[in-house]
Amino acid sequence: MVEIEALSVPLLRPQVPSSDSGKGLFSPAVKERYLKLSRKTKTSACDCCGAVTAEGKKLQMCSKCRRKAYCSVACQSQDWKEGGHKGSCRPRKDFRKGDVVVAQSIKSKPELNGQLMVVMGLVSENRWLVMYAKGKSMSLHADKLRLVVPVEEREDRE
Ligand SMILES: [Zn+2]
Ligand SMILES: [Zn+2]
Repeated sequence: MVEIEALSVPLLRPQVPSSDSGKGLFSPAVKERYLKLSRKTKTSACDCCGAVTAEGKKLQMCSKCRRKAYCSVACQSQDWKEGGHKGSCRPRKDFRKGDVVVAQSIKSKPELNGQLMVVMGLVSENRWLVMYAKGKSMSLHADKLRLVVPVEEREDRE
């Protein structure tokens, strides 16, 4: 007769139920807009003048943040000085509390990829606490987060 030991291993539950993701973080209209921004990985229009580049011609990305694209140095310079990019340009992976980010390349929890989250703060080196639904947070490596809307540019804050 073999004795059965009680399971001492806690059941692993997914950290983020997918139905919860993004719940209560943004109004539907804002969420829609941010999701659209988060899917914009390849840019075809200048972020300053809106000019659309000809097929095959590439826009120049801001080398520091790689988030803004311009058709010319003049446009880059204008957006830096007058467009306010100087105030919101940061190196990638340098997040701030309140930034809207999108999760990406998460192999263990693929259901999280593409989800909008809000940065809460730095937990340890390169690990950030992110809110994925109202009152619910988790920590993710900086590599798994891409900035969508810096806190300075958020339109949904009072
Ligand atoms: Zn331009
Ligand atoms: Zn920049």
